Amino acid sequence: FQPDPAAKAAVHAADRAHVFHSWSAQGLIDPLPIAGAEGSYFWDYDGNRFLDFSSQLVNTNIGHQHPKVVAAIQEQAGRLCTLAPGFAVDVRAEAARLIAERTPGDLDKIFFTNAGAEAVEHAVRMARVHTGRPKVMSAYRSYHGATAAAINLTGDPRRWASDTGTAGVVRFWGPFLYRSHFHATTEAEECERALAHLEETILFEGPQSIAAIILETIVGTAGVLMPPAGYLAGVRAICDRYGIVFILDEVMAGFGRTGTWFAADLFDVTPDLLTFAKGVNSGYVPLGGVAISGAIAATFDQRPYPGGLTYSGHPLACASAVATINTMAEEGIVENAARIGADVLGPGLRELAERHPSIGEVRGAGVFWALDLVRDRETREPLVPYNATGADNQPMAEFAAACKKQGLWPFVNMNRTHVVPACTVTEAEAKDGLAALDEALNAADAHTTA
Ligand code: PLP
Repeated sequence: FQPDPAAKAAVHAADRAHVFHSWSAQGLIDPLPIAGAEGSYFWDYDGNRFLDFSSQLVNTNIGHQHPKVVAAIQEQAGRLCTLAPGFAVDVRAEAARLIAERTPGDLDKIFFTNAGAEAVEHAVRMARVHTGRPKVMSAYRSYHGATAAAINLTGDPRRWASDTGTAGVVRFWGPFLYRSHFHATTEAEECERALAHLEETILFEGPQSIAAIILETIVGTAGVLMPPAGYLAGVRAICDRYGIVFILDEVMAGFGRTGTWFAADLFDVTPDLLTFAKGVNSGYVPLGGVAISGAIAATFDQRPYPGGLTYSGHPLACASAVATINTMAEEGIVENAARIGADVLGPGLRELAERHPSIGEVRGAGVFWALDLVRDRETREPLVPYNATGADNQPMAEFAAACKKQGLWPFVNMNRTHVVPACTVTEAEAKDGLAALDEALNAADAHTTA
């Protein structure tokens, strides 16, 4: 990573002239030109290397540029780049087999999409056709993607500008003890009240009108919210009682992030549909999908499934998924995520909380953690207001800048920083990241009132 000012200037100029970036006021951003990446690091054209504690958008579970995955993509590109979804293809079939073998219960059929939002779109469509019912329920504090149904199911401000097509979406509050909607003081109370609230909402909506409930197994972008013991099993029971399809969205939580293949494994729960993307191949080539239960798959045995995509099961994407899953299994990468979480990140983050008054709560598992930053631990007032921008967001902006100054690339959302390195992160890298966070948190502490 030698400095290369000329290359930097060229990338910057072309980007600014022609690239329209996601979720941004185009005139208020200045995207950092990146020259390369490997393992847990990426680097810019000025010679700065960053420890990637964001895994980009929480997708590079196997790290950057894993040589076995790169080789598999190169080999597949030389052999067969693309083929219509109607054909049977070796890598597509093998990817489906490897995924189905790991998904919980009888989720044995795989419909491939290009990414997470499309997986959610298709899961919802399957549920609606399977049940013949119109409505889908989703939680506040959630993210399900940026296409039509997925964004309308989303329970965070990214939905607001797209709130035009919410027909059939019913939202409810999920459990989150630290900021309890139910005035609960214990996990058991939170769980019981959240389940009662969900069931009451269903009764008032009309159970016979509800096709599906969609939940992130562990809520990701909206805060790494761990469901209390019994909650997901309770939702499963409610779905069974009313004939509602249970969809678990594992786009972010799946494929090793929690130290298990799927977050559902941590809670011993089997949904009817499970959506995945990101970690399935670390995003080296866009890929997502839906794992489908036997009962829902049977609905489409004699009746066509009304949906498809030109690139469903794209050979390059599937070859990269096969290589990713096999490599994760061979190299014990899921086990590494579990061990780093239990031995390094969990204890290390709790230790930071003892010294930094801005840390209100530490929560997570594996390589999937959040620090909930507060102005005041007693009142739990968030360090910045909900959906803050500009001057209101200054404390978080200062914290993020301090991380980058330490050579750490953080994942920051509202008043939280998520600690989400690759599942391949080493103990030494995780400790380096913790040390950088320790320094950067001083910037957040400076805004506490306690
Ligand atoms: N579902 C969850 C839980 C996600 O975290 C995301 C993306 O962050 C999505 C769906 C959408 O995935 P994509 O951006 O690949 O469409």
